[in-house]
Amino acid sequence: MIKIILVLAALIVVYILYHEIVKKFHFKCPNCGHSFKAKEYQLMFTVHASTKHYIKCPKCKKRAFMEQIRD
Ligand SMILES: [Zn+2]
Repeated sequence: MIKIILVLAALIVVYILYHEIVKKFHFKCPNCGHSFKAKEYQLMFTVHASTKHYIKCPKCKKRAFMEQIRD
């Protein structure tokens, strides 16, 4: 039971961290130039290297490493 609570608490902390990124940053697709806001779950379950996230563009549906840009 304690383990489940710890896992849930960790998930909530991670969610809050990503929520801050989602609020303050947006992404620009290198393929079509479309600017968009990512969702928390998108960032939580994708590969990222420092400020670059491997996410899918909602416009052209292509995946790429995208730099997070301040709003
Ligand atoms: Zn695109």
